[in-house]
Parts: sequence; C-alpha cells; structure tokens
Amino acid sequence: MSEVSTPGSQRTLAGGAQSQAWHALAAEQARVLLEAPEPLTDESARARYERFGPNQLSEGRTSGPLARLGRQLRNFLIYVLLTAAAITGALGHWVDAGVILAVVIVQTLVGFIQEGRAEQALSAIRHMLAPRARIVRAGGQHQVDAGELVPGDTVLLEAGDRVPADLRLEKTNNLKIEEAILTGESEAVDKFPDPVDEQSALGDQTGMAFSGTMVATGTARGVVVRTGIHTEIGRISGLLADTTSLKTPLLEQMDRFARGLSLIVIATGILIFFGGLVFSGLEFRELFMAVVGLTVAAIPEGLPAILTITLAIGVRQMARRKAVVRRMPVIETLGAVSVICSDKTGTLTRNEMMVTTAVTSGERYEITGEGYGSDGMVCRGGKPVTGDGVLAELARAAALCNDASIIGKDGQPSIHGDPMEAALKVFAGKAEFDHVNSASAWPRVDEVPFDTRIRFMATLHHDHHGHGIAYLKGAPERILAMCAHQVSTDGGTEPLSTEHWERIITEMASEGLRVLALARRPMAKGSRELVLEELEQGAELLGVVGLLDPPRQEAIRAIKECHDAGIRVKMITGDHALTAGAIARKLGLRNADRVLTGKELDDLDEDQLRSLAGEVDVFARTSPEHKLRLVKALQALHGVVAMTGDGVNDAPALKRADVGIAMGVKGSEAARQASSVVLLDDNFASIAAAVREGRTVYTNLRKGIAFMLPINGGESVSLITALLLGLTLPISALQILWVNMVSSVLLAMTLAFEPPEPGVMRQPPRPRDESLLQGFVVWRVAFVSLLFLVGIFAAWFWVMHRHQDPVLASTLAVNTLVAMEVFYLFAVRYLDSASITLRGVLGTPVVLAAIAAVVILQLLFTYLPWFQHTFTTAALSLEQLAFSVVAGVVVLLVLELETAIRNRVKAVRG
Ligand code: ADP
Ligand code: MG
Repeated sequence: MSEVSTPGSQRTLAGGAQSQAWHALAAEQARVLLEAPEPLTDESARARYERFGPNQLSEGRTSGPLARLGRQLRNFLIYVLLTAAAITGALGHWVDAGVILAVVIVQTLVGFIQEGRAEQALSAIRHMLAPRARIVRAGGQHQVDAGELVPGDTVLLEAGDRVPADLRLEKTNNLKIEEAILTGESEAVDKFPDPVDEQSALGDQTGMAFSGTMVATGTARGVVVRTGIHTEIGRISGLLADTTSLKTPLLEQMDRFARGLSLIVIATGILIFFGGLVFSGLEFRELFMAVVGLTVAAIPEGLPAILTITLAIGVRQMARRKAVVRRMPVIETLGAVSVICSDKTGTLTRNEMMVTTAVTSGERYEITGEGYGSDGMVCRGGKPVTGDGVLAELARAAALCNDASIIGKDGQPSIHGDPMEAALKVFAGKAEFDHVNSASAWPRVDEVPFDTRIRFMATLHHDHHGHGIAYLKGAPERILAMCAHQVSTDGGTEPLSTEHWERIITEMASEGLRVLALARRPMAKGSRELVLEELEQGAELLGVVGLLDPPRQEAIRAIKECHDAGIRVKMITGDHALTAGAIARKLGLRNADRVLTGKELDDLDEDQLRSLAGEVDVFARTSPEHKLRLVKALQALHGVVAMTGDGVNDAPALKRADVGIAMGVKGSEAARQASSVVLLDDNFASIAAAVREGRTVYTNLRKGIAFMLPINGGESVSLITALLLGLTLPISALQILWVNMVSSVLLAMTLAFEPPEPGVMRQPPRPRDESLLQGFVVWRVAFVSLLFLVGIFAAWFWVMHRHQDPVLASTLAVNTLVAMEVFYLFAVRYLDSASITLRGVLGTPVVLAAIAAVVILQLLFTYLPWFQHTFTTAALSLEQLAFSVVAGVVVLLVLELETAIRNRVKAVRG
C-alpha cells in the first residue's frame, strides 16, 4: 500500500484496484492510492484506458457460430427428414435420399443465416442502449459511455442512475442505493462517505457504490476504484447479461402449433402406412415414399424462419424510427395499443425553453431574444431595464438554484442539463447577472435536489462573510405555501399578497406558459445543511417567471394520426393544470378542457377513477404514483396501454403498462430498465411511428402464415385424396420438398419486407387477445388449400387424360401449384382490400425479384436434364405452361371476389 507512487506503480495500481479494501479507506486516501488526487485529465484517462481496458463485463454468452449451427440441427423437422433420408437410402433410393439430405442442409443454412441476421439486429440495438455516465474530468462535467470509465475517474450520481463502476463515495446527499442484484436485499441502503470496518460484508460497505446497482434517491460524487470484470458485479457476472431473444408469444404459439401439427402428421403417416400395407395393393416402397411425401407436405418447414425474419426486420425498422425495442414480445403488443399516455415536457413539447415573462412584487417584465442565445434583454413596458433590487436577486436565485450549464457563448450555444434550468441561466444573463462565474463567488454548500414528488429544489450558499442563504425554485403553489413574506421592489420584505400572485399565476398558466416561483430563505450563520422540513417555512418570495415551451409540430400530426387509428392519447404531466390545458388545446387532444389534477385523483376511489380515466385526456400536477393508478384503471377498461416515463419513480408504471416507453435522452437508467421500448429522441412522433410499425409487423406475420399454410394444406390434402382414391401420387415427395423449400420460402420471404398498407393507421386497434390462428386466417387457409387441391388435380387429370404420362402430369401439377402460389402472393399482400390495383400489380422490388427467381428456378426444374433426372420431371409444352398460369389467374380472381364479398358483408353488418 505504501510503495504506490513509484514509477513501477502501474502494476500496483492495476493489482491494487482489484484486491484493495476500498471501503475501509477514507475517500481521500483512496484517491491517493489511485494516483488521482484531482479529476483526471483527458490524456491520463486515455492512458489509464489503455492500461485497464474498457469498463465492460464480457459480452455475456453471445453464442458463437458453432453453437448457432448446433441449434439449427436440434430441430424436430431435421430429425424427421434425417430419418426419412436414412430409410429412403436403405431402400436404395439414392437420389431421393440425396435430395432430402440437401434439403436438410439448405434448411440448416437458411436457419443459420436468418438467426445470424436477427442476432446482428439485436446486438446493434444493445449498442444503442449502452449506458452513459456523468463524470468530472479536468475541464468540467461530461457525459461519456460508461464503458470508457477508468479507475480514478470522478463520477456524479443522481436518482435513477445505474452506478457505472465500483465507486468510493466522497460526497453524498440523501443517497440511497438499491443493491438487490448484489445482496438480494430489496430495501434501498443509506450511503455515507465514511469508511467502515475492513471486515464489513458487501451490504454494510456504506461508503461504496457498486456497479450495476440503482440510485433510489439523492445525489453523490465518487471516485472509480474498480471497473469491468474487477467490479463486484463482474465477479458474479454472466448471470446478468441482458437476455434479449427473438422469442415472442406469437412465435411460441407458432412453434407449439408446428410441433403439434408434426406429431399429428407423423401419427397419420404411420396409420396410413400400416393401413395401406393391409388394405391397399401398394407395395412397401411406394407406400413408404407416399408417407414421406405426406409428412414433408404437411409440415410448414419454412414458416419459423419467415416469422423470425419478419420480427427482426420490424425491430430494425423501429430502431430506424428511433424506437429501440428492449423486450421482443412488445413488438406484437405495440400493434394492439389503444391508449398512449405521454409525458408533456420534451415529448409533446420541444423542451427548448425560454423565459418570456418575469413578475416581482411590484413589476412585470418581458424578456426578448430567441432560444438559448444571449442576445435579448429584460424590458419593462417595452424599455430595457438593468437588473437591480429585487430583479437582481431573482436573477441570482435563477442562476444559483440551477444545475444546468451553457457552453459556446455566441454562435451555437449548447446546453447541459435540464433545458428549463438552462433557460433560467439565460434569463439571469439577460438580467445582467454573471452566471458563468457565480459558482465560485457563491459556492454551493448543500442542496435538496429536485424531485417530481416535492416539485421544488433548494440550494444553500455562503457569501464571503459566511452569511448563509438558501434559494428555492419550484412549482408556484408549492413555493407560495412556504412563504409568509415577499421581497419588495426596494429589496426589503413585506407580507405576502397571496391573491395577487395567484391571479398572476393563473394568467400566465392559461397562456400555456410553464410557471416557476423563486424564493430565498435567510439561514443561520455557518449553517451547512439544508433540511427539507425546515425549509417548509420562512421563505421570502422573489417572484415568478413564465417559460415558453412550444408544442412539437410533428407531435400534433402524430396525435391526429393516432386518433384516426382509434388510439386515445392522454397527457400526464407534473405541470400546472392551466398550463397543461392550454398546451393540450394547442396539441389537438380530444378532451382538452377537462383537466384532472393529482389532488383530485387522490380523492377518487378505484371505481370512480376507472369511469373518469377513459374520458379525461389531460392529467396535471401528477406524481409518478398517479401514473401507476392510471395504467391500472385504463387496463381495467380493456385498454392496451402505452405509458412513457423518465424518472426512477416512473418504473412501477412503466413495468405495469403493456408497453412501457422510456425516454432515451432525459430518461434515467432505472426507467430504461423498467421499460420495453426506449425512445432515442424522446419524441412523441416516434411512439406513433412505432405503433404503426408494430401493426405492420403483425399484419406481415399474419400474411406469412396465411401464405405458407395453404400450400402445405393443398399438398397434403392432395396426397391424402390420392391415397384414399388409390391413385398414383400427383406430386412426389421430392417435388414437394422442392416446392416447400425453394419456391415457397423465396416467395414468403418477401412478405417480411412488405411496407405498411395505406390503411394501417385508419383502422381501430386489434383486440388484445386476438389469436393469429383464428377467424379469417383459418378460413383463408382452408379455402385456399381447397383451391390448390383443385388446381393440382385439374392439371394432373388434364395431362393424364391426353398423354397418359404420369411424369409429365406431375411436372404440370408442380408448375401449376407454384404458379398459383405466385398469384396468391399478390392476393395475400392485401388481405383486406382489392389486390388487382396498379400499386398491387407493380409490387415491390423485392416481390418482383423473388418472382423472377422463382420463374427461372421453375424453368430449370422443368427443362434442365439434371433436374429432370433428379426430380423426375419432363419438358412441358407452351400450352401446358399456359394452363398453369391460367390456374394462377383464376385463383387470384376467385380470391378477389371473395374479398369483395367479405367486405360487402362487413359493410352491411356495419
Ligand atoms: P413535467 O411533466 O412537465 O415534466 P415535472 O414532474 O418534471 O413535470 O415537474 C413538475 C413541476 O415541478 C413543474 O411544473 C415545475 O413547476 C417543477 N419543476 C420541474 N423541474 C424543476 C426543477 N428543475 N427545479 C425546480 N422545479 C422544477
Ligand atoms: Mg419533467
């Protein structure tokens, strides 16, 4: 411990960082040991990064390619096919056995590649969600990727943060940390900077904050002592890697369906096999091949791959629209959302704030200027004024009771921290208060951080003579309640004229301004601590300011889109009721004139809340607890609820909502962890886009199923019919494998890329528990199976009747089936509307490419000798080719008619 700062200390520092009992050292001592008495400079941080590596746990168990390949082979269908190949081979059908093996290889490869692409999509997302950390390095506060932290770095924590590395705490403020993932203890632990006994258990090391744990309340500063795999969590890691997989309820439903179907098919096959042996004159081999044919015909081999890729593409599209999916099943839920509850500030509004009005006890000021630029002045009655008296004191409070900073003075100012606080700094600047150097002139001794539940914050400062003063800012009614006096124009104090202030606040809020009150509270000389309870009395009101936060134009459009889509949009805000109502009107919310406040909510029991929750669209002065109650009430009304949130306390509501949406920019790590979607741009319009994408994914899954299943249905019904009638099989087992693995998969794959249908956002949301395999889809599958059956047999009989050639007949049967598939693809792309439209016929580039590929493959299949030999096919005449195309057209026309009739019936029924 003593030979640290020698030149050879590199090793010591690295070794020490792992084994040192940091909790038993004073924080300053820890800094000495870490050779970081001051915040690190960028260079020394870089050097340390070289030495210690990234602050990362090993990539979890991202399985390698071999494991992925293994997974493909552990598949029921593969077993069936391998068994079939083995028996076929044993029977001497080498070609058949070879083709079945080829199918196994193709199937494995397709699965392997698809899963690889899906994994890629997911890991890209994981990267987007990389946690960030707030640190101090020489030169000020920064946000960095938590992965870049090095031992010796100075980290700032606040409520909702996930601790980014193991820290020795230096300064704590009301800090409580939830350490359940390390200790299993669900109660949050109080933390203090003091060292504890060396033998203390993890849960008692109160001077430490451990990587991966969550800050429940308070703020703190600490120095990084261990990173990456050396952290406490790193030691037990592997258990914790975020396991995102592409499994969704729907995919599981389909898996179960496919497995059940396979079992039934195999049982049927065995029955037919033995029944056939006893009752039919067919010989053993022929019968066996028929049963193999039936098995491969009935099992939808390509379907799982199609569904997986459809979901993966959906995830990618959503990420492109700034909505990152954290839990896969939510993709399906998004499409069913019927109520969206959104934050106001920053989500529906731009969160680019500006103070436009300030009012003191005697005067009213207008503030000119744009955005965060420093141009602009404080005016009274149109004339610029200089900041003195109470205005100067108001400006000082605005600048000191403030955690934001503005950098880049002229040109492009950029802000750090809360935009509202940044706007207050700008205001202070315009009132000629030197907010840049204020922190050193008026050092902050203590603070009560802002919390949505108390709705204000306070800071304690000392002037050069050691006089203490606290500045408070917060929701006006909250601050007003703490004041008995106000500061008069000349700087003295007088009794508070509550009525006057209430009138002003009402006036400003009804214009849609966000209103904040600022106050000061003299403190006893030498006081170094702020106590929440003590602050409740004795403050002196300085004045109120009004901030403009215009609605986002794109949010107005998105709200309209949601309304058209039968989705109710509700605004839940901590802001003043009048401000909320005014903004709601500008946004075009349905029921903007009826605002329910948190206090009113408190007085409602669950039944009353349920009846109001559906009706009211604007909720003001709410706390996070109200969000949870609202979610529950809306869900009880059968709503599928999407809820946004950003703070720690929003976590329960986010978890409870069907779709919990966290803000990626201003949101806390706690909110992200509780949510299933993270918005990268905090923008309401992105939620609407995600819903639209969710609906598209759902319909594309539905189309994939409606496309694939009738092919299997048509094939197996044809085979069973032939067997029952004692006919030769119209299509052989190998030919069926060809159709299923080549043409069908190629065509079905295009459905994953289908763009949203024009009407997606003009239909009401789908019911919460609608199953994919019910109603219309089942009917479609049955109906189209039948059409395919008719087509296959028509082709087969037609050729047999003319040429008595079974090879030629089955070649045409296969080509007819594929032609029908191609035309059916067009019908399936618009399940609920006419398909024969210009847009429909032109298709998308993907569809056209797939069709071209299928046509070429079918020509090879029919005319190339090698294929003819392998698949037992023969060259078709032009007339015969024309027959298959006509069959396809007929299928399309029949389905078009069916759609028209269905829509007519729907219209008549209302
Ligand atoms: P919103 O839903 O508009 O984001 P919040 O719950 O964040 O509302 O804030 C509620 C109220 O608390 C605000 O209307 C404002 O009066 C007050 N407030 C918000 N942020 C701060 C802050 N940083 N300091 C002091 N008061 C604040
Ligand atoms: Mg807020």
